[in-house]
Amino acid sequence: MGRSSKDKRDVYYRLAKEGGWRARSAFKLLQINEEFDLFTGVKRVVDLCAAPGSWSQVLSRKLIEERKEESEEANDAKIVAVDLQAMAPLPGVIQLQGDITKVSTANEIIKHFEGEPADLVVCDGAPDVTGLHDIDEYIQGQLLLAAFNITSHVLKKGGNFVAKIFRGKDVDLLYSQLKLFFPEVTVCKPRSSRNSSIESFVVCLNYSPPDGYTPTMANPLLNQDLDYSSLQGINRVVTPFMACGDLNSYDSDMTYPLQLEGEKEYQQLPPTQAPIKPPYQTACDMKKKNLLQNEQSNVKESSKDIVDDEK
Ligand code: SAM
Repeated sequence: MGRSSKDKRDVYYRLAKEGGWRARSAFKLLQINEEFDLFTGVKRVVDLCAAPGSWSQVLSRKLIEERKEESEEANDAKIVAVDLQAMAPLPGVIQLQGDITKVSTANEIIKHFEGEPADLVVCDGAPDVTGLHDIDEYIQGQLLLAAFNITSHVLKKGGNFVAKIFRGKDVDLLYSQLKLFFPEVTVCKPRSSRNSSIESFVVCLNYSPPDGYTPTMANPLLNQDLDYSSLQGINRVVTPFMACGDLNSYDSDMTYPLQLEGEKEYQQLPPTQAPIKPPYQTACDMKKKNLLQNEQSNVKESSKDIVDDEK
């Protein structure tokens, strides 16, 4: 497809080039901001999964350039952008090449804020799409959880979190999980995000972790080395396990003699309800007719007879 036909087919692609944005995604963050006014009073921002950098450009323009134009005062806004891939430099943006699933990345970010937490975390992260919807949704969900985990290490209480989400069939679980940490969770679809795309964005306002919550990078579904005993307080949910029935009754893992002590005389009985048309029936019938030992060809013929008999 030529560039001019893409310009015609995708107006945001054209507008991105005209506006000097590195990707059309810039419009998504701009349109989300129109609704939620994300940048007022904000100084420290983390842009997760930032490459090639159009969201970082939006942040740099809004928090640094526009503020410089409005006031002569020193601008102390700080933007830290993280991605697995390298990104061309941007004014006022500190770039980290790293993986958002790693605690070392959270520590690097915090170092740049000199120990102070962030006011806002945004994440436009997406895995390489396979085209298999269930798998893509699952991986996107895991990336969102990684983004949330890193956010729980770097975001101040009362701060906001915006992240890409795939609105698949199990997305309600993710909303509920986010609601445990943010009283206000909204899903929004900017005009610049194609209708044909499953992507939307969760806007989570006013970070309020439950009392005693300790940030963790552990995802119990993925992290098999997780030491559960290290989880304490609200981080540790123990589901009760209960043994039912008389503890003196028979042990289902033991082998007992046919004649049980103190019981009436043993007598072999057929099952109370035999299975209806079990898949092994043909083999049983063949065994009865002594056909199972025969040559393969005989077996084939006879089993055909049996199947014909059954019709
Ligand atoms: N917001 C960006 C912009 O406006 O230019 C576009 C982001 S792009 C849709 C998704 C990015 O997620 C890719 O650059 C990819 O490298 C990054 N990514 C995926 N998994 C990641 C991970 N585990 N850690 C860091 N970055 C990741």
